[in-house]
Amino acid sequence: MAERGTISIHAENIMPVIKKWLYSDKDIFVRELISNGADAISKYKRLVAAGEAEKGDDYRIDVVCDEKAGTLTFTDNGIGMTADEVKRYIAQVAFSGAEEFLKKYKPEDGESGIIGHFGLGFYSAFMVSKKVVIDTKSYLEGEEAVRWVSEDGMAYDMEPSDRAARGTSITLHLNDEDREFLSFWTLRQTLEKHCQFMPVPIFASEVKEPKDGEEPKEPEQINDANPLWLKRPSDVAEDEYREFYHKVFHDFEEPLFWIHLNAEYPFNLKGILYFPKLKNEFTASEGTIKLYNNQVFVADNIKEVIPEFLMLLKGAIDCPDLPLNVSRSFLQNDGYVKKMAAYITRKVADRLLTEFNTHREDYQKYWDDIHPFVKYGCIRDDKFYERVKPALIYKTSAGEYVTLEEYKNRAGEGEPTVLYASDEKRQAQMIRLYTDQGKDVVLLETLIDNNFISFLEYAEREQKLKFLRVDAAADALTEGKGAGGDAGKRLTELFRKAVGDEQLEVELKSFKADDLIAMVTVDEQSRRFAEMSRQWGREMSFPEKRTLVLNQKHPVAKWLGSQEGERAERVAAQVFDLAEMARQPLVADRMVEFLRRSNALLSMLIGE
Ligand code: ADP
Ligand code: MG
Repeated sequence: MAERGTISIHAENIMPVIKKWLYSDKDIFVRELISNGADAISKYKRLVAAGEAEKGDDYRIDVVCDEKAGTLTFTDNGIGMTADEVKRYIAQVAFSGAEEFLKKYKPEDGESGIIGHFGLGFYSAFMVSKKVVIDTKSYLEGEEAVRWVSEDGMAYDMEPSDRAARGTSITLHLNDEDREFLSFWTLRQTLEKHCQFMPVPIFASEVKEPKDGEEPKEPEQINDANPLWLKRPSDVAEDEYREFYHKVFHDFEEPLFWIHLNAEYPFNLKGILYFPKLKNEFTASEGTIKLYNNQVFVADNIKEVIPEFLMLLKGAIDCPDLPLNVSRSFLQNDGYVKKMAAYITRKVADRLLTEFNTHREDYQKYWDDIHPFVKYGCIRDDKFYERVKPALIYKTSAGEYVTLEEYKNRAGEGEPTVLYASDEKRQAQMIRLYTDQGKDVVLLETLIDNNFISFLEYAEREQKLKFLRVDAAADALTEGKGAGGDAGKRLTELFRKAVGDEQLEVELKSFKADDLIAMVTVDEQSRRFAEMSRQWGREMSFPEKRTLVLNQKHPVAKWLGSQEGERAERVAAQVFDLAEMARQPLVADRMVEFLRRSNALLSMLIGE
């Protein structure tokens, strides 16, 4: 006899209902139905453990798509439901059978393993279906199998079912506009996205008329019920980590290294984070961090849980204490989530430190790949900076890697100033002038370095840490005091006229390198400022403060000091261009001018 009824709603749970209907992705119904099946199996296992049910075998969930019938069927061999239970759990929206079950069978280890919570997931089936049929048979002896049918999720019919085996099967008659889920390929993709690591084996198959001579296909298992992160780190081999990485992130490159998070206190949190090989300059979208709740996929890249700079990593994090469906604003304000993010950050910093302390050689090899990430992290998060500080290294032009401490120790006395080049090839000449004096020059060549060194100077302001580009000052390359006075004034005028730059400063110094006529230096701060404003695409351009430093010991400089007129101007222009070229390429106009002048000089040399 069929029985007719309408669904009732638990008033106190009405709020989550509304939120739940705001599922943004339609395909979430797959996750909900599968997790209900997984819950039904977990519950059954728990009854077996409590001695209240006989051990079943081959616990599994099957998903079958039947394109011709227009149906998707989810079948599990879990606990099943009696007619009364169907009325209670299914027909009352926002009444969770999971909660009731947990009250009765409280797990001893604290971790429930049951996914259900709000009592709403089942209704997501109506987002894609014009009719939903449940056939279920309870594990309880003597209970008849029942069938529940509803077309709108509001009114339903119940009648006896011919289901013989323990468990539940849910058949969705898909809406015409949702037939995409009948494609086996789409179904597989969706299952893989949401259920790749669900704790119960899940098999997918399709009903198909076999073509002549074709064997019917066996159902395929699409999930890995024992994901690597659940294992004890000491039980996992290196290759397993690599294999997991390739499989889950579809990255052909090898990961550099990884962190296996395995905490029970203060958080119940497990997961694996990989440091991928970054392509030169990173883009923010490079990484993927998948968040799971008890092996059920929640979302990718939730920045409230994972600090933004860690998004460059790839990994999976499983945290059973995070609710499955929560709004982002909730996460943002949640103290627990904040602590969790801080914990993950600390673990990443610690891993870098350990790697540095115990495998420095390897660490140095990785450094070129990971440094933009580490630097970005330092800028974004003071605590991260404080922790990884000892593991920050700098590559020198000689190909060595040194810490700031090591650099300072080698440089000896005085306030700590780090010499650096932002372009090893173009600044080769300036670099050589310093290395010839026995000084180390570090290479800071990526986009983030400008911001990073400004950050460091600020963070270490008490140490008076300074970074100077090789063309920022000539102090270390000259000796004694420079000459000024009339000679200086006359030369300044001569060069300003020859170069066409009224702001140009000219200084006379004695160079340690005898054969060099002049150098161009640019004030560090004004140059950085100009570069940053260019980086941010500002229209306004800030002039760099340039100084031409002449070697007063050099005959050409001496000669210039006593000459004027056109010939002196041409020589001055040539001296300036040569000095400028030692630090960066000439701009187009100056280059043309330089070549023309150089050709003329050659003619003069042979007396034409
Ligand atoms: P929740 O899973 O959050 O409790 P759902 O709306 O997903 O809420 O499901 C409501 C209830 O219906 C479940 O708690 C469970 O008691 C029952 N249920 C749903 N699907 C199944 C199933 N496949 N087997 C047994 N019981 C089920
Ligand atoms: Mg559920």
